[in-house]
Amino acid sequence: MSAIKEETAVKILQTAGLNKTTGRLALLNVLLEAKYPLTQQEISKKLSKVAPLNHVSIYRSLEAFLKAGVVHKIESGDRSSKFALCGCDNRGHCHPHFICKVCGKAECLNSISIPQLPLIKSGYLVEEKEFYLKGLCADCAS
Ligand SMILES: [Zn+2]
Ligand SMILES: [Zn+2]
Repeated sequence: MSAIKEETAVKILQTAGLNKTTGRLALLNVLLEAKYPLTQQEISKKLSKVAPLNHVSIYRSLEAFLKAGVVHKIESGDRSSKFALCGCDNRGHCHPHFICKVCGKAECLNSISIPQLPLIKSGYLVEEKEFYLKGLCADCAS
């Protein structure tokens, strides 16, 4: 892990109020390096080269990250959730996601923010907002 990445990972844990463990740092490093949201299997495959963590540890760390708002979860529709580092400070998604129907790639559309929606019904409390755009990625469309 490069010094800059390690520093970033440490800062993320501190901000989230999470204890610094080797496993969490390695997991964050994988997410920092990822260009696209990853499934737990993909994360564990990448981790196996640097810090072998068992499935339970990965699952628990991801749950802790989710709870702290460090990562967000994308339901890509093929029953495998994907995880990505989250730039927004809440559990709800702050940006839409693109999902390719052919290769299954999910992408955070960080440059677009989800518009404020009007109150759906009186008395209802919206806790999570998810916005998905589905179609073909540039590779699959060409
Ligand atoms: Zn595709
Ligand atoms: Zn995202």
